[in-house]
Amino acid sequence: MSDKVDVLVIGAGPAGSIAAAMIHKHGLSVRVVERERFPRFVIGESLLPKCMEALEDAGLLDAIKARGFQEKFGAKFIMDDLVMDFNFADQFSSGWGWTWQVERADFDLALITEVQRKGVPVDFETTVTGIQFFDDETSVTTAERKDGSLLEISARFIIDASGYGRVIPRLFDLDKPSNLVPRKAVFAHVQDIHRDTFGEPNRIIIHSYAPGAWSWVIPFSNGNTSLGFVSNYEFFDGKGEDQTQQFRGCIEGDKYMRSRFSDVPWVFEPRKLEAWSTTTDKFYGNGYVLTGNVTEFLDPIFSSGVMFASVSSHLASLLVIRKLKGEQVDWDNNYTNFIRQGVDTFRSFVIAWYDGTLEKIFYSENPNPVIKRQICSVLAGYVWDDKNPFVRAHDKALKGLAKLIAVQSQK
Ligand code: FAD
Repeated sequence: MSDKVDVLVIGAGPAGSIAAAMIHKHGLSVRVVERERFPRFVIGESLLPKCMEALEDAGLLDAIKARGFQEKFGAKFIMDDLVMDFNFADQFSSGWGWTWQVERADFDLALITEVQRKGVPVDFETTVTGIQFFDDETSVTTAERKDGSLLEISARFIIDASGYGRVIPRLFDLDKPSNLVPRKAVFAHVQDIHRDTFGEPNRIIIHSYAPGAWSWVIPFSNGNTSLGFVSNYEFFDGKGEDQTQQFRGCIEGDKYMRSRFSDVPWVFEPRKLEAWSTTTDKFYGNGYVLTGNVTEFLDPIFSSGVMFASVSSHLASLLVIRKLKGEQVDWDNNYTNFIRQGVDTFRSFVIAWYDGTLEKIFYSENPNPVIKRQICSVLAGYVWDDKNPFVRAHDKALKGLAKLIAVQSQK
């Protein structure tokens, strides 16, 4: 006998928590199945203001406010002595002017605990291993508990929020390679004991480290900081044999990194992640929808992952609610195309970052304040505001601006 539910959510990350909270809020029954025991480590610590809207509507914002995470008001891009500081309060689109920088283990635990407190059952340490869909779009999901026992759940609809687990794309062979070059990240949390001797010690820094290589500095409210380096494989191969040597080599290889992090204790040994960009051309199907990282994750450079997880799971759950209440849903237009519009805007920015176009723009002399505000809105996650030329015609606007800057600099 299988347990019955209106909606089964796979995964208890931000996408899963928001989806579950939304479904519950609208009076349908929902259950979450999560492979890990929480708190669990996951990378993705710098949020974007746009994600606050979904958290608020899902009724999860106050639970996060209560945790005292480091507030994030902008981000600073640095290359040598050049600085481009984006302040989210000074942006083109109307919306949130701040968000948080969070340790995801605590953030995700706070979200799912609030979801449980609202009355949603969550099965931790339970891994989805199989799904059978029927003609009427219902399904039976099989999941395995830690002790090896099996759980069967019948659902009218499944929201796949399994992140890097990519449950439905893997089970049904939907994965497609991304058009982005594979890259690698080496990172750790460190005790940021010299933080206060640097200006604006709690500001996130994205540091152009070497051509095609950059680092993140994400200070947390407990005094620790997330420090990571991202580049192609060759860059790291030249820094040492394993991620510990490579992490140390990256710190020692730069004046700023050396002065702030050379002698600080590490909270955990450096870890690595690589080749994270995967996609699928099907964001929904009969009886299921994919959300968050399962749709597509591009690149860490602009911290867009949790924002997309929040926006996609919020929208997907509203559409699932409409569908289960008997309405027709145009998934292509109202879901896939909408999410793609945002992803494609960020894709143009990611490509422009790695091919050097954005460096030319960010570090140009006397940047135009109107253009800076428009770019700031994209970096805050407002990638659906088509009044913004850097959203409406993202690729053209970036290339055109870089060309104009090049011409002006020759005068
Ligand atoms: P997740 O947070 O991955 O949650 C998915 C959950 O599903 C997990 O808890 C997992 O255990 C569970 N699961 C998986 N398989 C199964 C299964 N078979 N059965 C049951 N449960 C399952 N994003 C940002 O916003 N800011 C950043 O600064 C940032 N930095 C990044 C740096 C790097 C190097 C990388 C690679 C990514 C970064 N990201 C960042 C992206 C971020 O990690 C993800 O976009 C984000 O975690 C997606 O959230 P999610 O809810 O979709 O998935």
